[in-house]
Parts: sequence; C-alpha cells; structure tokens
Amino acid sequence: MQKGKVSVNTENIFPIIKKFLYTDNEIFLRELISNAVDASQKLRLLASRGEATGDIGDLKITVSLDEKAKTLTISDNGIGMTEEEIDKYINQIAFSGAEEFVEKFKEDKENANIIGHFGLGFYSSFMVADKVEIDSLSYKEDAKPAHWVCEGSTDFKITRGKRKTRGTDIILHINEESAEFGEKYKISSLLTKYCKFLPIEIEFDGKTINNTSPLWKKNPADLKDEDYTEFYSELYPMSEPPLFWIHLNVDYPFNLTGVLYFPKIKKEIDPNRNKIQLYSNQVFVTENVEDIVPEYLMLLHGVIDSPDIPLNVSRSSLQADTNVKKITSHISKKVSDKLYEIYKNDFEDFKTKWNNMSLFVKYGMISDDKFYDRAQKFCLLKNTEDQYTLLNEYKDQIAPTQTDKDDKVIALYTTDKEAQFSYINKAKSKGYDVLVLDEIIDNHFISMLESKLENVMLKRVDADTLDKLIDKDEKNESVLSEDEVNQLKTLFEGEVNTEKFEVQTNVLSPEDHFLSITRSEFERRMSEMQGMGGMAMFGAMPEKYVISINSNHPLAKKALSLDENTKGEWLHNAIDLAKLEQNLLKGEELSSFVNRQMNQL
Ligand code: ADP
Repeated sequence: MQKGKVSVNTENIFPIIKKFLYTDNEIFLRELISNAVDASQKLRLLASRGEATGDIGDLKITVSLDEKAKTLTISDNGIGMTEEEIDKYINQIAFSGAEEFVEKFKEDKENANIIGHFGLGFYSSFMVADKVEIDSLSYKEDAKPAHWVCEGSTDFKITRGKRKTRGTDIILHINEESAEFGEKYKISSLLTKYCKFLPIEIEFDGKTINNTSPLWKKNPADLKDEDYTEFYSELYPMSEPPLFWIHLNVDYPFNLTGVLYFPKIKKEIDPNRNKIQLYSNQVFVTENVEDIVPEYLMLLHGVIDSPDIPLNVSRSSLQADTNVKKITSHISKKVSDKLYEIYKNDFEDFKTKWNNMSLFVKYGMISDDKFYDRAQKFCLLKNTEDQYTLLNEYKDQIAPTQTDKDDKVIALYTTDKEAQFSYINKAKSKGYDVLVLDEIIDNHFISMLESKLENVMLKRVDADTLDKLIDKDEKNESVLSEDEVNQLKTLFEGEVNTEKFEVQTNVLSPEDHFLSITRSEFERRMSEMQGMGGMAMFGAMPEKYVISINSNHPLAKKALSLDENTKGEWLHNAIDLAKLEQNLLKGEELSSFVNRQMNQL
C-alpha cells in the first residue's frame, strides 16, 4: 500500500474547487465522462495499431446510481490505469496546472469550463463528492488492479484493487449539499445535455443516452435531405422545419465540423438566440456562442464542433483569438456562398424563402462589410407589386424615372402598404416604383443603403408632396394670384395647430390632390431614432407635419369664396379628410368628424 500527499503547489485545491466552481458544479459529469471516452478511444487506437492484444469487445461507458449508498459510478472498459499511472496522472500531473488554474480563475469566475483544460477535470468530482474512489485495471498484460481513494483533502491512499476486467470505475460519494446528483432525473438530464453525441456508447438506467455518430460527423455525400431535417427536429423538437442548411467541414487551418440551419425568421427576432450549440470533439461545451459567432449568425441554428476554439481563456481574449476570427469569417463566407448558390440555381425557390431570411441577410450586411459585399449578389428588394429586384440592379432600374434635378436617384419606399395606400398610389401614378421596407431592421438598412449606394437617397412615399418627392423642377402656371395664395394659406393656418402642422401652398396640376399631409423624411427618421432610445439627449421632439394645399385645384377657389357661416366647418372637414388619409384622425377628433358626416346624410 502506498500513502502520500497529493502534490499540489497551492495549499489546497479542494476548497478552491468547491468555492469557485459551486455554481457550475454540474460540469464534473462531463469531465469524468470525457475521461472515460478518451480512455476508450485510446484503447481502440492501440488495438488498431496492434498494441493492445486480444479482443477489445464493445466499448461502452456505464453510469450508475446507488440511491441508498449515495454513490454515482462512471465505468468504462477503456485502457485503465496501473498503480504507477494513477500516481503519475492523478496524484502528480493533475496538479501541475493547479497554480496556473487558481491564478486564471481569480479573473474569470464565470467560466468554469476552463477547469477541464488545466488538467483538473478529474478533480472537479470533488465539487459534488466528499470521497472519490478509482478502481482500475490496465489493458497491459499482467497488470494488477489498483484502487485509489481520497476524501477531499490532499491525502490519498492507493492499494491493490479487486477489479477483474479491463477499465476504470470512478465512484463518487455524493456530498450532502449536492444531494441532487444522487437523483436519477438529474443525472439523466445532465447526460442528455452534455453527452448526447459522444462517440462512445453511454448507458444509464438501462438506456443508451447518445447517438455516437451524429450527422455533422458524417460525409455530406452520404446524407439525404431527410437526414438533415430529422436531425433538426432531434435538436429542436417541435420546431418548424428549417429553410435550408450548410454542412461545415474544415480541416485546415483549423478543425471545424458542424451543421448550420437556416430557420424561418419571422418579423421578430427570436429573443432566445442561444440556438447554436458548441461542441468540442462531440462533447457539448455551451449554448452561449456569443463570442464565437457574430450577432447576426446567432440567428442561425445548429451545431459547431471544434477542438480549436480555446476554452481556457477569458471571454474578451476569445474575441481576439485568431482561430476564433478565422472560424467566424469562414462561417460567414459559407453562409453567403450557400445563399448565392440557391439564388443562382433556383431563383423561384429563393424568392419564396426570401421573406423568411431577409431579416438575417440585412442584419449581416449591416454588421459585416464583407458580408455586405457578398450579399449584394443575392440581396433582393421587393416592391409593392411583389416584384423582386437585385439590390445591385435597382439603382439602374429606377434611374430613368426617379432621378431628381440634382441628379440624385430617389428610391421610394413604404413601411406599411395599407396605411400608406393612397400615397403609394399617387407615386405609382407617376410611374415610380415603391419598395416595401417594413421590417424592424429596415431603419438601419435604409441608412446603410444610403451610405453604400452612391448618389441614392431613400424617401418614404409620404415624405413630401408628389412634385417634391422626386423634385424635377417642373413648374406649373399658377391659377391664383400671389395675394389669393397667401389668403388661402392664412385661411388654413387659422384652422390648425401650427405647432404641429406647417401649412404650405403648392402650384400643382389641377388633377393632383387638394390637401395632403406629409412628414419630412429627415424629421421622421430623427424621431424614430429617438424612439429607439438612441438620441435621448435631444429631449422629446414633437411630431411635425406639413399640410400641403394645391392652389391650382378647383377647390382652392371654392375655399376662398366661402361665406362666413359655412367656412369654419368646410375647412374643418377638409383638414380632417387629409388627416384621415394619413392615419392622423383619431379619438375624439375622429368621432366628431364621423358625427358631423352622419348628420349630413
Ligand atoms: P485531463 O483529462 O485533462 O488530462 P484529468 O484530471 O481529467 O485531466 O485526468 C488526468 C489523467 O488521468 C488523464 O489524462 C488520464 O491519463 C487519466 N485518466 C483519468 N480518467 C481516466 C479513465 N477513466 N481511464 C483511464 N485513464 C484516466
């Protein structure tokens, strides 16, 4: 029998393990199972090289609970350890990283994942156990079984064991505070979380927990569409089927496999964005991939598996890590390549998918210049007739009809086809094209387009009267004298709150509207930005509108010739109609308008 002290440079690792890692103590199971997987794979490797003799049999890891004895046992039939090996790997080597670990961990308390990467994986068992035993028999010929026990202090004991078959049992005597890990339900849910796709069979409570060869590890050439959709529902039960997917498979300069799915993205961004799971050699690491993939890619679902994503560093250095950067740009390129491929191969199919992915594409274009450059080739703009044009081609398409006197190309858009119906109609009557930009992200998308597309400005259809929306400097002859026009203006100013409504007269064609209410593009964007909380320092900005009177309209003359008795109500009605058209007639004003009209019936 050998007795001794676990060699540790710091006074005692156990209190540290317990104290710092308590919140994330469940990772102990992942660490122990990973060790068992490693031990099994090592044996398989040795056997394939002829270094382990005899039949290695089926490799399997069994997890068992003894609820009475309050023990949890992880058994494998991998390579096992001799007494010397236990001494070397568990007593000595395991602690060589302890000091470094303690140093790092002081700064990085949230990231308990790192424990496994300091060679302390095995010792994480002391987060939940006050006594741990190892029962092992090495694969080596004539090896003697070894038994190790340690009760959560630096004292350990190694004796000759009783084990008769090759492999290792790790027996945890669950401590009182961690009683939950003595429950079937808890263990089963942890196993499903961390071990669902481990490469060696894992059995618990008579059932196999894992799928040892998950889809992303397979050769894409051997897979059918159904395989991908089935795997998707395995990952996200009850979800709508994905639009399409990308199988990632990179060996160089980093190792990365995985499958990314494109979900149907609706008008709203799913607040629960942790839908990409990160694995390292099929071991689940985290669902929190924020620092590994850019925001917009987090809208995707699926699995990324890479042993090259470092986990033993703090979150901030992760973002600066060159491998992580390469991985991110690789993913982004793959995604845009795939989108372009679908666009090119089947435009009809692409169009049907567009509504479900435009939010994603726009988000990507806004946040990543490289993605913008690639996306130009497939980013579509949709007009009010549901026709699609490639972003690249749109400017040239509208330039002949929509260039103003200063040679700027004005692209018109609506944020709501219903609410802005009559404004859209007016624009169309001039032969203008109107884009539908009604997604939450379109505010930003519009600003981005203006900064990227040379000499292009975007204006909402109700930003100006038709003649000024795209100002071509076409002048009409005024029917009224200057005096009459001024009179007309004063007349209307007397009827509205001029703080909110600025009255303007315009010399339009007699067929144009008589009255219309517009809101300048600039003013509206400013107040929308403020609404999004971006410009709080300006204080609350009152909404400002323009009431535009067409002084050439026949009704202009009529307005000037009204007698004192009817004038008030006539103007009131005219203004209410214009407000109604702009969805500004509400509440009491609307009700009073309706009552007045009813009385005329
Ligand atoms: P790491 O796995 O990071 O090397 P651990 O503390 O988890 O650190 O394990 C230390 C070493 O103990 C392992 O590298 C391995 O050599 C040995 N070991 C642990 N568990 C087993 C096991 N179930 N079978 C065989 N060897 C094991």
